[in-house]
This record gives sequence, structure tokens and C-alpha cells, in this order.
Amino acid sequence: GLTGVPAFEGKQFAKDYKTDQDVRWCPGCGDYAILAAVQGFMPELGIRRENIVFVSGIGCSSRFPYYMNTYGMHSIHGRAPAIATGLATSREDLSVWVVTGDGDALSIGGNHLIHALRRNVNLKILLFNNRIYGLTKGQYSPTSEEGKVTKSTPMGSLDHPFNPVSLALGAEASFVGRALDSDRKQLTEVLRAAAEHRGSALVEIYQNCPIFNDGGTTRPVDPIVLRHGHPIRSETHSVVRNANGKLTVVDGCSDNAVIHDTDDLCHAFALSRLDTTVTGVFRAARRP
Ligand code: SF4
Ligand code: MG
Repeated sequence: GLTGVPAFEGKQFAKDYKTDQDVRWCPGCGDYAILAAVQGFMPELGIRRENIVFVSGIGCSSRFPYYMNTYGMHSIHGRAPAIATGLATSREDLSVWVVTGDGDALSIGGNHLIHALRRNVNLKILLFNNRIYGLTKGQYSPTSEEGKVTKSTPMGSLDHPFNPVSLALGAEASFVGRALDSDRKQLTEVLRAAAEHRGSALVEIYQNCPIFNDGGTTRPVDPIVLRHGHPIRSETHSVVRNANGKLTVVDGCSDNAVIHDTDDLCHAFALSRLDTTVTGVFRAARRP
């Protein structure tokens, strides 16, 4: 079981977490893979479904609670972290999860998100980032790249996007991770680490929207995977600027994996600024 949540010894399976609702995302939506990963991993938590709550905001991803056979609330735009904060602080016996998207979390809900992270409320926040507003049919979002052509920005977006991992680290979130919808193994590893973390956890999940932003979640060319849990100091590897002015990692443990000290906020931030996509756990630190 998780800290504060009563343990449950009974057997549970992914099917126990499915509901009788028709899943109403577009065919090929990355949300299906994320739902399957979450339903597959929930039985591992060793707690009852009745002690789990999913609170969502508004957007495609926010239909998530209908499909989880736990308690849940499809709440109001951008306010899921605020509602979940009330629940998590008054009911320590619950494992509280927030499901939100890039528009919901970072535009209308940006304020609620950063303060939930700052306060280190015991919430696990899953930010499905498809870099577009899907539900309202494809407007640019706070994570859309500069120059993004959409119906609302026919000549290309002028806005500079947020990097959600950097933003969360800037708010000193005690747990920050990133994973891809298409990599179930790593997504499950990051979700497991987030679940075990006591405090706020932000997990950015790159999620494909084949209808309005196909491939727009940067299918990573040369992803770097962070390996955590190794008690080594970050001096053994560093993030440096190379001759081309790009940030890169030196002395990683292999070509595409880096052992990273998840207590090291500065190093985590530097990793979040790399020009290549980094996935895994950036930060997992203890804080009241
Ligand atoms: Fe998924 Fe995009 Fe369809 Fe929304 S619009 S359900 S994000 S594919
Ligand atoms: Mg979105």
C-alpha cells in the first residue's frame, strides 16, 4: 500500500479498473494507450479501488474518470488541482490523481497547477500533452511550438511555448517525470515512481492527437532516458553546451541513458532544457 492509504491484500487485475462506459476518444488517440497503462498498473498499488480518486478538468483527456472504475470527478476547466487539493488534504486515506491536458493545466489552470506543486499537496498530476486543444477542434495551446499553423493561428503562432517539466521544476515540484504514450514500459515505471512519492508529482505524458496534431508531440529522434535510484553523484556526468550551442549530456552511462541524481534540482532543470527529448524521472525529492 501507499503511505497513509490502507493496504489491500486481495487480488486485482486491469479489468477490475475498466468501466462499462464506451470510450469516446478518436480512433488512434494516444489517450487509449495511457488509459491501458494506468489500468494495467493500478492493481500493483495494493490498495482498494474505493481508495482511489481521479479528478479531471476539461478537455479530451479529462474524460478519463469515466473510464476508471474508481471514484472520480469530471470537474471544471483548469480547476482540477484545486478540487483535488481539497480532497487530498481532508482525506489522507485516498490516493488522489489529477488528469489534465496542456490547455487545461497550463492555460486556464496554470495558476492552480503551480501552487499545488509549490505546496507539495499529495497529488499525482498526469498532464497529457498533445500540444493542441483537441476537444475544441485544434487551436494552438500553451505548449504548441512557435509558428504552429492552426485555425486560430492561420499565419502561425507567435507565442513561445511552456516546457511543462521546466515549469514544474521552477515551482520546485518535489516529483517531476516525463514519459511517452507509446512506451508502456517506461510510462508504467514513471507512474509507479510517482505513486510511491509522498507529495505532488507532475508527470508530463507526450500524447499523440492523430486528428489535430499528428506526430506533434515530437516523436523523439534521439531520446535520452533517465535512470534513477542509483546513489551516484551528478558530478559523474554533466550537461554542457557543445560547439553548436546545443545542450548535451557528457559521461552518461550509455549512448541514450543517463544516471541522474533525482535530488539534484539544478541538474534536473538542465536536463529539461536539452534540445533532445529526455524522459524518465527528473526529480524525486523529499519535502514536507
Ligand atoms: Fe484524442 Fe485528438 Fe481526438 Fe481529442 S481530438 S480524442 S486528443 S485524437
Ligand atoms: Mg491538449
